[in-house]
Amino acid sequence: MKVLFASSEIFPYAKSGGLADVADALPRALSSYTELYSVIPLYGFMSKKGLQLSQSFEVSLGEEKYKINLYTKFQNTLNLFFLEAPLLSETKTLYCDKDGDYADNDLRFAIFCKGVVALAERLHVEVLHLNDWHTSLCALFAKEQKLVLKTVLTIHNLAYQGLFERETLKKIGIDEKYFTMDGLEFYGKVNFLKAGIAYSDAVTTVSPSYAKEILTSEFGCGLEGFLTHHKAKLSGILNGINEVVFDPRSDKALFASYENIERKYQNKVALHKTSKLKDPRRPLFVMITRLVEQKGIDLVLESMETLLQNKLNLFIIGEGEARFAEQLQTLSLKHENFEFFNGYDEVLSHQLYAAADFLLMPSRFEPCGLNQMIAMRYGTIPIVHATGGLKDSVHEDKSKCGQGILFKKQSKQALLLAIKRALTFKKEKKQFESMVSFNMQCDFSFEQSALAYLKIYESLVSVHAALLL
Ligand code: ADP
Repeated sequence: MKVLFASSEIFPYAKSGGLADVADALPRALSSYTELYSVIPLYGFMSKKGLQLSQSFEVSLGEEKYKINLYTKFQNTLNLFFLEAPLLSETKTLYCDKDGDYADNDLRFAIFCKGVVALAERLHVEVLHLNDWHTSLCALFAKEQKLVLKTVLTIHNLAYQGLFERETLKKIGIDEKYFTMDGLEFYGKVNFLKAGIAYSDAVTTVSPSYAKEILTSEFGCGLEGFLTHHKAKLSGILNGINEVVFDPRSDKALFASYENIERKYQNKVALHKTSKLKDPRRPLFVMITRLVEQKGIDLVLESMETLLQNKLNLFIIGEGEARFAEQLQTLSLKHENFEFFNGYDEVLSHQLYAAADFLLMPSRFEPCGLNQMIAMRYGTIPIVHATGGLKDSVHEDKSKCGQGILFKKQSKQALLLAIKRALTFKKEKKQFESMVSFNMQCDFSFEQSALAYLKIYESLVSVHAALLL
């Protein structure tokens, strides 16, 4: 079977969050079973070094035509396409700059989708796998062009839907007939993700719990009714991580690679030498995050004065909303046991996973979350709010792989209580170390999830083949 996997980001070429990690790891796992191609935009900040120009063609959106250049990089089983197009490839970042989202994101990603569908047709793929709102319009374009392929949409985060004014329709050449409740209309606006849900043959999200949660008004972001209507084609498949990129035994970013807790400790000592934090014998808590409400950073800020009274060290690395960064900055000047790094830094994030004892993840909601799995692989115990993929991957039940500390209510009291439990647990040296070692042996790879995706592809393609008989 031939599959084209389309994403707006793929690690290490372009990354703003977990989507990039998944768009790297899942195709890698799938490529053992099926002929797989991936496609991402060639953004303005990316180098063309090592890429080959393979084909050029034009796509039309309404009255306008846009030239597409497709570059390739085929390495082992990974077949990557980089799509260069006007507007899409002219930006220095993926989606936004300091003034907010790019005003022409509607057109940028509509052009990308047109190019992706043209590529899918040229490659004669049987399945086109879409991810989030940036690639959702492909489902509509494929349907409009009556292509004989099946589309699967994976929702990585329902909170981001690609909402635009009604005028967008004309700009991107989509017929008004699709601007309906059954189509991409959403409270008078154009909703790209809704188009993906409406016109894809299957819709998945990144954990079984989140697949249930998004059918409720608490987590559905206004689409709960629409998703319930399409429930028959919706399922949840838990993400995994790339166990080669995230491997403490070979990770080049670390001060000391390790496979046991003794050598892990060297990373903690080294981090304390390079940061202002003192006394590596203290429990070290870290948070590696986007600075947005979803991740519960507001809750951490509220808890901080009490939290830092404890004999512990806290290191937060984060990029995002300025209001959170400013408060964290102020607190780090005030407290010697708290360090804040404002920004995105891949190397530092790996060093923190390795150095820490505990990872904080008090997310309000979490479709899947990768940090907790990376943390467990690095022998760092996650403290998580029991929601979405966090409750599917972190367990207190000792018989299950992936152990950590969970709290049910997303409140300051519950978070502080969970931290207290962690501090007590850290003192129970034997149990603590046995949990660390146990987690480091667990399988967080994409292997099982890849098989579940494969099953969906196969069922769609075989139903289609049966209908043709
Ligand atoms: P998101 O909702 O941000 O996609 P995930 O948990 O799915 O959350 O994935 C987050 C990914 O981004 C992880 O690989 C994590 O290590 C990384 N990450 C998040 N923030 C930062 C940061 N400030 N610096 C470096 N890496 C980060």
